[in-house]
Parts: sequence; C-alpha cells; structure tokens
Amino acid sequence: MNNQKLSEVERIKTDSNYLRGTIREGLNDQITASISEDDQQLIKLHGAYQQQDRDLDDERRKQKLEPLYSFLIRVRVPGGIVTAQQWLDIDKLADTYGNPTIKLTTRQAFELHGVVKRKLKATIKGINQTLLDTLAACGDVNRNVMTSANPWETEIHQLVYKDALNLHTGLTPQTTAYHEIWVGDDLVAGGEKKEDFEPLYGKTYLPRKFKIAVAIPPRNDVDVYANDLGFIAIAEKGKLIGYNILAGGGMGMTFGIETTYPRLADLIGFVTPENTLEAAKAIMIWQRENGNRSDRKNARLKYTIDRLGLNVFKTAIKEILGDKLQPVKPYHFDSNGDSFGWKKGYNGKWYFTLFVEGGKVKNDEKLQLKLALNDIAKNHSGSFILTGNQNLVIGDVNEADKEKIDKLLEKWNLNKSIGGLRRNSLACVALPLCGMAFAEAERYLPSLIDKIEQELRTLELEEENIILRMTGCPNGCARPYLGEIGLVGKSPGKYNLYLGAGFTGDRLNKLYAELLNEDEILAAIKPILKDFATNRNDGERFGDFAVRKEYVNSTNEGVDFHSNIKKFQKK
Ligand code: SF4
Repeated sequence: MNNQKLSEVERIKTDSNYLRGTIREGLNDQITASISEDDQQLIKLHGAYQQQDRDLDDERRKQKLEPLYSFLIRVRVPGGIVTAQQWLDIDKLADTYGNPTIKLTTRQAFELHGVVKRKLKATIKGINQTLLDTLAACGDVNRNVMTSANPWETEIHQLVYKDALNLHTGLTPQTTAYHEIWVGDDLVAGGEKKEDFEPLYGKTYLPRKFKIAVAIPPRNDVDVYANDLGFIAIAEKGKLIGYNILAGGGMGMTFGIETTYPRLADLIGFVTPENTLEAAKAIMIWQRENGNRSDRKNARLKYTIDRLGLNVFKTAIKEILGDKLQPVKPYHFDSNGDSFGWKKGYNGKWYFTLFVEGGKVKNDEKLQLKLALNDIAKNHSGSFILTGNQNLVIGDVNEADKEKIDKLLEKWNLNKSIGGLRRNSLACVALPLCGMAFAEAERYLPSLIDKIEQELRTLELEEENIILRMTGCPNGCARPYLGEIGLVGKSPGKYNLYLGAGFTGDRLNKLYAELLNEDEILAAIKPILKDFATNRNDGERFGDFAVRKEYVNSTNEGVDFHSNIKKFQKK
C-alpha cells in the first residue's frame, strides 16, 4: 500500500499533535455552531460526532440559516456497568445539555444527542466528573470493549469481566489532549504536563476503527463474530482456562462497491487469560502496520486479512505470540440475544433484564421510561448494566430490595411481556441526526414491528424469537447483516431486505429483495413467515429455515456476500 496516496484523515491525524488539532479554538468560535472539517474528524477520537438535524435542513435553508448543528457524545462504559448514581448523573446531563434522551448503543455505551457546541465542553467535563469518559469512544482506535452483560451470572463471568476491563485499560490511548481540552489540567493526574507518547498507536493511530468483544458460551450476546477482534471464553470443569481468538469481523459496507462487505471473524487460536492483552496488542499492531491508509472504505482489519491472506495474518501473529497461541478449543453458542426478566447471580444478588426498544430511554405518551429509570435509580443501591443488544439490566439488587424494585417495575409498566420479534430487534439512530442515513431506523422500526406482529399473532408465532435488525444505511451500526431479517435503508422509506443469518450470530444473511417500501416489505415477509409456521422442522430457527427453503443462499464468508443472490421479483 506504500505507494498510494494517504487518505485525508491520515493527514489530519498526523498534523493534529496527538488529537489536538484546533478543537479548542473551534469551541470558542461563536460565529458558527460547527467546527472545522479537520476537527470534525479528530473530535471523533474524543468521543463526539458533529451532526445536523436533517428534518430542519430545508426550513433553515429557506431562512438562510446554517444547518442546526449539534453533537452526539458517546460515553465509554467498560463492560456496560454503571452505578445507580452514575445513571442519575448521565440522566441529568442529558436533560441539562442534550435533547433529552439517552441512547443505549449496540456496544454497551451511552449516547447523548443534540448537544450544541457551546455546551460540549461542560457535557464532557460533567461525564468525566461521574468517573466515566468519552476518550476513544469513536474514531480510529480501539472502542468500548464489550462483554457478556451480567458479570455476576457465574464465577466465570466475573473473571471474564475483569479480563475485558484489562483489555479496555491496556488499549486506551495515552494522549493528554483529551484532558487538556475537556477536563482541564487541574484534573490530570499529578497536574504535571507530560510529553505525549502513544506506544501502541503512534501519531497516526489506527487506519480505521477497531472493535473488541468478549463472549461467554453458550450466549453470544455481544455478536462476537462481528468484531475486529473477538474472544470466546473457554471453561473446563467449571473453570475459565482461556479464550479462543477471532479476528477480522466487521459489519459495514457501501452500496454499489462490492469490494466492501460484512465479514465474520475467523478463529485463529487460543490463549490463556494472562496472554489476552498481549494477543490483542499483537493483532492491533499488525493492523496498524498493514491496514489500508489510502482508502478508508477498505481499511478495517477484515479487508487487511482478505488482502494479505488469512494464513499470512495467522503466521505473523504466531511469530509474535509463539507457543502462547495454541490450537482453538471446542465451544458452542445457542443464541445471540439477551435473556429477559429476573435472574439470581452467583453472588446471591438479583438482576432484572429490561427490554429497551431501539435502546431509546425517553418519555413519550406510551412509556415514561426515562422517568421510570430515574425513579428506580433513586431507590436502588446497585448497578445498571447496558447490554450489547440495547437493553438494560437493573443489577446487584439485594434480596431484601427485590420486592421494592418489582413494585417500581409494576408502577411504570416495565414488566409487560414483549413479543419474540420485538425483543430481538435492534435499530440504529439514523434520521434525523445521522448524516449517513438514507432512511429511518429507530423512529420507524417499532411501527413496522406492530404490523409484522399482527401476522405473527395469526400464525401463532408471536413468542418465536426472530432476530430483526434495521439500519438507515449500510454502515451496519446495528449489525443488520446478522439479522435473520435485516432491513437496510437505501432511500427515504425504502429498504433492502436480507434474510438467512444464523440465530447464534455465526452466519451472515443475504440480499433477498431491494428497495422495498413498507407494503412491499410486508408482502415479501408474510408468505415466508406463513411457510415457516407450516413447514419448519422441530426447533428450526427462522434464519435456518430461510436458507433450507432456498429463499436465500447461505453466506458464511464475507467475500461471498454479494454473490449467489437470487432474483426476487417485487409483486
Ligand atoms: Fe447512521 Fe448508518 Fe450507523 Fe445507522 S448504520 S447510525 S444510518 S451510520
């Protein structure tokens, strides 16, 4: 790749003095609510994205005003765990500075939306005062390390959680620019100015984002195959002995460019727990050195592996890790969703997993979820745990407090039963705030599910767990290519329909039909659901059925994602 021109983002990172750029100056510029284009790239590594309200673009253009700019702030939450007090702090920050909702992301992070430039610093500072941060929540670095939601489910979960925290800490950038810009020198440890040095990342950080997840079989509730780097916990006789390593997963693609595709990570070996960080560093550094820095659409680890060859990659990692990289151990997943309701942890405390539609914590006429969780947090001494499926666990509830939490769940109508399609659904932010969105996702999916549920009720499939994912563009933030039903926005009100992913997240789906409006989506899905209700085998999952009945061909390799597509005729 050496003789190709570097992408503009590489120049911006190189010239940024470890991510400073002119962010500080831009925040003080009162002429515009925006920041410079270079700083828009850099600020992602500080955990913020500049957005504009696209619903208002036409009106503001008519009034000769600049677009209504604001920022999304993503809060890193290692392992997804916060205290009740931190929940209240984030809730207050959303009210004070944001739009006011809290988005629970598909990677166990919070997002605050609608924060205007003049409130950006106060918001990020406020987040740091809650002992959370936003550094490396976005951008060309390792992001929030995901792990299975409840660290107290078993002793193994607790050990895995600690290893995930170790990865999180060990891969965090070292630049002091973050504290300098957002928090103030007074809060930098020791108060002394340090010379910046990024031992892992160097001055140009990574070619592209880097995602890590740690799964604990039999539940793949983090979609471990969708990550650049995945760890699968392996236990023997009830003891954690180490992790299988997966590398090269990723969801994003671009319509019309077949050299971009979603890809599942490949198994490359096994390491013991004390070697996980070293293995992660080896893989991340290999990607740092070999990733494509000219074309950002082909820069993720998945493309580097496919370009240079899986064997070349494995050999390189084996050379670094030596005997620490051992042969893969057997494992088995049986699902990739969350398990809802009350569960008792091995620590004797209780954990209630609550469905949060589209990960959106807000108040509306149907459900006052934000108020409800505020009420629970004020009456709860334990934790809240964000799951990788945009849901929330009310955690560490003492036996004596369980009844009180139950009453609050009842009071706020949070313990009602949810249908199998809805409770397995994910949706990204999309319109109006995401600049990449072609179509709606989180605002639209609930009403589409209402309509599909009518059919499911008729077919007596209402309780069937079917994984449904919707995004407003092909970038894949809600992992749509792992949906047994995937809907990806292609233009306003129109979606590509994908079918046939594996229920455990181990097989991609495949394009079934293009550019469908709502009526066409329903017309395409209903006959397949009917066929499924009548002709499925015992225990057969919807995605497996769609493949067996040849609605779509099976897709296990990312490079095959765009081939062997059957031609579906719209009626
Ligand atoms: Fe935006 Fe696309 Fe990501 Fe959805 S998938 S949040 S539309 S970039």
